[in-house]
Amino acid sequence: MLDDCIFCKIVAGEISASKIYEDDKILAFLDIKPVNPGHTLIISKDHFADFLQAPDEIICQMTLVTKKIGQKILDSRLGQGVNITNNIKSAAGQVVNHIHIHVIPRLENDGFELWHGREYAEGEEKKIAEKLKS
Ligand code: 5GP
Ligand code: ZN
Repeated sequence: MLDDCIFCKIVAGEISASKIYEDDKILAFLDIKPVNPGHTLIISKDHFADFLQAPDEIICQMTLVTKKIGQKILDSRLGQGVNITNNIKSAAGQVVNHIHIHVIPRLENDGFELWHGREYAEGEEKKIAEKLKS
């Protein structure tokens, strides 16, 4: 546990949260500022700074819980669709440096926008693919 980590404090029960799933390794609770009602955060009970820092077993367990909650959001009709997102580092919008996956209920025309794509420049796509493959 990190002393100044807000999610570690939720795990320790020092800060309250609306918990919706818990096992020995994973906790899921409602985001305090939801994009839409039911917006859920899946976290590891152990502190890891982000998705890339956590052991594979934790990622697997978090992913299984994420799938269950995504389905529950559809079944409960809180969402007509779901976004599953994870922000890594501040450049990608990460604010809380304790691993968490967002499960966001989406409704037709709810006004929440995703990123906008742009075209590759001539020859750029091939170069980028090579970089990521190697
Ligand atoms: P990030 O931008 O790091 O991916 O997302 C952090 C999320 O944590 C935000 O959506 C924010 O609303 C949520 N959050 C921050 N502090 C608290 C808190 O004290 N309780 C709960 N339930 N959610 C929080
Ligand atoms: Zn933490």
